[in-house]
Amino acid sequence: MYRSNTCGELNIKHVSATVTLSGWVQRVRAMGGMTFIDLRDRYGLTQLVFNMDTDAGLCERANKLGREYVIQVTGTVTERSSKNPNIPTGEIEITVTELNILSESETPPFIIDNDTDGNEELRLKYRYLDIRRPVLRDTLIKRAMIIRAVREYLDGKDFMEVETPNLIKSTPEGARDFLVPSRLQHGSFYALPQSPQILKQLLMVAGMDRYYQIVKCFRDEDFRGDRQPEFSQIDCEMSFVHQEDIFEIFGGLVQHVFKKILNYDLPNLQRLKYDDAIRLYGSDKPDLRFHCPIIELNEVLPQADFPVFNNAVASGGLVAGLNAKGCAAYTRKQLDELTEFVKATHRGLGGLVNIRFNEDGTVKSSVDKFYTEEQLREIGKAFNAEKGDMLLIAADKTSKVRKALGDLRLELGKRNNWIDPAKWSVLWIVDFPLFEKDEESGEITFAHHPFCSPHLDDMKYFDTDPTRVRAQTYDMVMNGNEILSGSIRIYQRDIQEKVFRNLGLTDEDRDKKFGFMLNAFKYGAPPHGGCAFGLDRLVMLMTGGETIRDVIAFPKTSGGRDLMMDAPTPVDTKQLNELGIQVKLTEK
Ligand code: ASP
Repeated sequence: MYRSNTCGELNIKHVSATVTLSGWVQRVRAMGGMTFIDLRDRYGLTQLVFNMDTDAGLCERANKLGREYVIQVTGTVTERSSKNPNIPTGEIEITVTELNILSESETPPFIIDNDTDGNEELRLKYRYLDIRRPVLRDTLIKRAMIIRAVREYLDGKDFMEVETPNLIKSTPEGARDFLVPSRLQHGSFYALPQSPQILKQLLMVAGMDRYYQIVKCFRDEDFRGDRQPEFSQIDCEMSFVHQEDIFEIFGGLVQHVFKKILNYDLPNLQRLKYDDAIRLYGSDKPDLRFHCPIIELNEVLPQADFPVFNNAVASGGLVAGLNAKGCAAYTRKQLDELTEFVKATHRGLGGLVNIRFNEDGTVKSSVDKFYTEEQLREIGKAFNAEKGDMLLIAADKTSKVRKALGDLRLELGKRNNWIDPAKWSVLWIVDFPLFEKDEESGEITFAHHPFCSPHLDDMKYFDTDPTRVRAQTYDMVMNGNEILSGSIRIYQRDIQEKVFRNLGLTDEDRDKKFGFMLNAFKYGAPPHGGCAFGLDRLVMLMTGGETIRDVIAFPKTSGGRDLMMDAPTPVDTKQLNELGIQVKLTEK
């Protein structure tokens, strides 16, 4: 028997028991005639004590143990004289009588504790050591608990888990496919699923009624932001449902998981229309832990000769702003920083106008030359401006102003600590557009994926004004992060064909790519809909992680590399020959 108990289990109730523990040496402290060792395993930390007076030989052996040695000890549970209230085992220690080294360890390349000296690159290379650190260990434990709670909820609602294959044909989600060459059919490739979207829809055609799967998805995207080329989804689909049913079931799912894992009572989720989210917060994933909406001014601007505002209005653009509450006393430097923030290339504003409602009752602005104090106060009314507030106003193309002010809103929230970390904002965004126009090419593409059902009321715009067609698509947004997307699907073959046509697919292309799906729809497809949660992001938010790498056992770097296994790497010619592949290296 390697152990009678774990290192997280023993407490004052066990005093006098003889126990055997196994684990890793976290720390050895030789003090006078005593040696203390912290022994660690997944469950916690237990203090071991060796006494020179009682067994000098054993104590000397203990002194020679190095960090991360794996040892087995037998001894008696003893009450500690100086207790540690911070850990569950802090009232006891094990007075060791037997010590057995199971495995030695080289000096680890970084300190294995929450406070570590290892940078992320080093820790990813030695991820198995990184996972020994309590923070990461606890996150993985939480992740497993979250998955268990998800399964418990869905199983209780008659969802059944069905596995779907990874070697398939392309399922479009708007990213590039990872391809796997076929050895048996040279020149042919499988695609790894960007999601099991088509397969879960076919499971509905197959009559499975309620499906879910905790599943890996693969998207070969450029590594912008916090993304991983493979990530996990809680993928779900249901038959004979409307949007309302989905909101109830999956709103209920997050409520269940929050209660179970965080003991937090999440209220029923509010809904916000996509158009309103963009108009009010400049984002389809607004963080509503604080308010500060975008206020549009085109209709209320007083008459004046300020060309920046006047031109924006005249050219069909937008003049809008934010009320930075309590920021009237911002310094020149702080204001400059905010201006630089909105001028960054990806936001592209020319600058910001500020109007300050000072504590002394005066109103000052960067456009005093153009507007009278009376007029500035008039503008202030649109923002409910009070003493101490500062308005930040932008004018440009509508989409640019909304995006930049949306970002600025978040920046102000961060700078001013407007976000209460104990608060949660979880809501549905509904009524997304079905199609989007690519800003550069002007081409119509799908906004989510090509299987989302249009709002049937909007079918009248389908041919004439397709970007006006709303989809029965929804996202769930948590603290400003999209954590779920889904839709009611098209189950009518004719509508699906129409969508493909609008996306510019020729009949031939369509049949080549999706013929098997359209075929299935010939044999009785039920109305159906579903969604997928981004599991990694959900776990990240629920565990307070900063990136999804923090909640994945073996993540890749932001450049897509697995530093531990060293992948991707070139393969030998023999393997390539078997696959009928010749590598042609081009300069990048
Ligand atoms: N397949 C979709 C996605 O990965 C989710 C869904 O529509 O169910 O975003």
